[in-house]
Amino acid sequence: MREVNIKLRTKVMWIIIAVILVLAIATSILMFALNYYNYGEDPVVEDRAHNVILLIGDGMGKNHIKTAEIYHGSKLFMNSKLTTSGEVFTHSLSLGATDSAAAATAMATGKKVNNGQIAWHSNENITSITEYAQSLGKRTGIVTTKPAYDATPAAFSAHTKSRSNSNDIVYQQVHSSNLNVLMGLGKSYYDPFADVINTPTRDYVNNFAALNASSKDDVYAIFEDDAIATLGTNTLATMTERALDKLTINDNEDGFFLMVEGARIDSYSHDNEIKPMIEQLLAFDDAVAVAYNFAKKHPNTTVIVTADHETGNLKIPNTKKEANEEGELVEVPLSADDIDNSWFKKTGHTTQNVMYFAFGPGAKAIPSEIDNTDIYEIISQLIS
Ligand SMILES: [Zn+2]
Repeated sequence: MREVNIKLRTKVMWIIIAVILVLAIATSILMFALNYYNYGEDPVVEDRAHNVILLIGDGMGKNHIKTAEIYHGSKLFMNSKLTTSGEVFTHSLSLGATDSAAAATAMATGKKVNNGQIAWHSNENITSITEYAQSLGKRTGIVTTKPAYDATPAAFSAHTKSRSNSNDIVYQQVHSSNLNVLMGLGKSYYDPFADVINTPTRDYVNNFAALNASSKDDVYAIFEDDAIATLGTNTLATMTERALDKLTINDNEDGFFLMVEGARIDSYSHDNEIKPMIEQLLAFDDAVAVAYNFAKKHPNTTVIVTADHETGNLKIPNTKKEANEEGELVEVPLSADDIDNSWFKKTGHTTQNVMYFAFGPGAKAIPSEIDNTDIYEIISQLIS
């Protein structure tokens, strides 16, 4: 009898320990989740901007920028001309690293969602900054170096449960997004809608010559897959220039919102191909220069440059030490020749913070550490 009692007591004790453990774990998960939603205070921006240009380097971590600078031999445009900079926390509602869909949704709507979701959560569409800008009468545009239905442009122009619903995304962009400018790849997806896209006020073009010749107010420029170069005249910078021409056509008085994505920084990071990644990043930096020069000429324009997440866990090795003429070991800075694919330590996304750079009205009010949802908060305050 006594033995049975002891056994029972031991059992009860274990159950109590188990319950305490479960409660402790549940509390810490809850605290973590709460921290997620309250990551820092929402920034308050008092200045107002007529136009906002948001440039997103897909997969562009801090070390991607540094590596491009080692290759370039000097600081990038984004890292030298834009007056304010800081870090961005990128987590989504999913465990682990965010994907482009959730990160773009956070920036476009101010809401955290699960990976894969496009301005949509719990069976509801979430209003995007594009739609908000349109409600204020602003013209809106999206430019990317990957398919125009890809996750990042999609979050700024459509609502759907999954980023893989490409046909649904294209359908919304063509029929209901009210975009004035859409540029990217994916011609075969948009061709079936050529007659819908082409209207008295909107051109549908498929190459740079036709884009340059386009005279209507609005344009959807959807190219063949190899059409966008990193150097020369058919680049992301060219597309950004043309987008700005269209968004300011007829002396547009209500301003505009433009999102420009350097999408293939991410693709080459997944592939651990460092030189092509750098070429994409430098081409993205050229687009930043176009945006900055526009803002210099139109001081009521704010430019924000950031990334959705880091891809490839890129690590820069320590500086080398080499013997000088006196035989002393001295530090030699890394140069373009040192850059190697082995600097990538992973093929997937990471949870690392990314950088932001800003210039123009309100830029100075942005805290040094923000959440990706704050990008939406900042832009909506700027244009309100
Ligand atoms: Zn990716």
